[in-house]
Amino acid sequence: MTTLTFDSVNPATGEVVGTHPRQSAPAVHDAVTRAEEAAGWWAALAPADRRRRLLDYKAVITQNLRPLAELVHRETGKPTADAVLEIVLTITHLDWAARNAEKVLGRRRVATGLIGLNLSATLEYLPLGVVGVIGPWNYPVFTPMGSISYALAAGNAVVFKPSELTPGVGVRLAELFADAVPEHPVFQTVTGLGETGAALAGDPRVKKIAFTGSTATAKRVMAACADNLTPIVAECGGKDAFIVDADADLRAAADACLWGALSNAGQTCVGVERVYVVDQVYEPFMRELKDLAATVKAGEHYGPITMPAQLDVIRRHIDDAVKNGKAVKGGPESVRAPYVDPVIVEDVPEDSAAVREETFGPTITVRRTKDAQEALELANASAYGLGGTIFSRDTRGALRLARLMRSGATAINSVISFAGVPSLPFGGVGDSGFGRIHGADGLREFARPKAISRQR
Ligand code: NAP
Repeated sequence: MTTLTFDSVNPATGEVVGTHPRQSAPAVHDAVTRAEEAAGWWAALAPADRRRRLLDYKAVITQNLRPLAELVHRETGKPTADAVLEIVLTITHLDWAARNAEKVLGRRRVATGLIGLNLSATLEYLPLGVVGVIGPWNYPVFTPMGSISYALAAGNAVVFKPSELTPGVGVRLAELFADAVPEHPVFQTVTGLGETGAALAGDPRVKKIAFTGSTATAKRVMAACADNLTPIVAECGGKDAFIVDADADLRAAADACLWGALSNAGQTCVGVERVYVVDQVYEPFMRELKDLAATVKAGEHYGPITMPAQLDVIRRHIDDAVKNGKAVKGGPESVRAPYVDPVIVEDVPEDSAAVREETFGPTITVRRTKDAQEALELANASAYGLGGTIFSRDTRGALRLARLMRSGATAINSVISFAGVPSLPFGGVGDSGFGRIHGADGLREFARPKAISRQR
């Protein structure tokens, strides 16, 4: 029987990077069977043993950093330096998950508070069994590993379905795990497109799905999970706001704003897409932003758009923004497939597609607001709520705004920084999804609380 295959292609050069099997339901079924067996062994290891093996995995990834980064570069087109950064952050998270799992999940005594009863109680967090991870292509190591590291550290086996655009990286991550932990297939990859993800989500032996991708697909994943009541973590898209208050360091704000918009060529779920600047500093901020934007170059500071179909969305949003607003930098000519140069447009109506929908490209809309309160209200008017940024020297004011911002996380005087911190939970509200990865919440996401009460 011939095996159906598909290719991964370098979006910058058109070169075929690898050929992978299109694994359909039977192959996914077999992978889950193997994972179930491995899950029992992995869960039964002493926590210190599991920690040691995860740290071995960390060492193997570290030794293979260069070739892994090169593979990320070839499958996504992003500069190799960006791929290295992604993997370094992944290693940091893996280390944190391995070292903190026992402390966060292990058994502890809990005060019962029931007067007159001689009752004691314990709480611990047990592994779920097999966890399915469905990951995107934009950060093909950091993003799925943000679930995989924590799921493994919590004692689960993982079956990973990488994006069809970056299957080689996904396969390599599991191969490297097998170098560190050769006894059982605790971490496997299944590759494919069009049916593989649904087969994984629909398998009743998979006890949780960690999905990272678009909001529309998250709904389909939930439908595939519905029959078995399989819970999911949904890490979806964003439309992050960037607020510049009157007393902000404008140079630093412009720098962060441009970096946040251009990071990974705008293909970042917590990338900056909407900018709100208070009236008093609008002109000088825009001067700084325009000057900086004039210095960046395709291929050097940012890579190509990885998914060809995304170019259509970006083009539509640029056309919409330029038609309804005032272009400050770039315009339709900025789309030079597979690259898109930064586009900055002012005064785009808040109800236009360019402001409401996720662009996933290096385009930003900028609006003048009367004060920080108005900026916050506009920021919060989005259906999305993943991350956000506030630039201000007023610490108390910035903290107040940050707490009121409708987002899973907010950075003050930096951009996207919260995603790199392993001890902080990551996730969104509204159309950006639900559930949390990273940190103690991320570990608990892949475990079930077990309460035991005992009458003495
Ligand atoms: P996508 O197109 O939404 O998802 C594609 C993946 O979903 C494929 O692996 C596909 O597998 C699987 N899939 C499709 N239908 C399925 C179903 N019914 N059941 C189970 N799996 C199914 O995502 P993408 O284009 O790769 O990612 C881009 C999006 O990810 C952006 O919106 C971005 O903002 C978001 N993102 C979010 C975060 C975050 O942490 N919040 C991070 C990075 C990216 P098959 O081919 O086998 O169907």
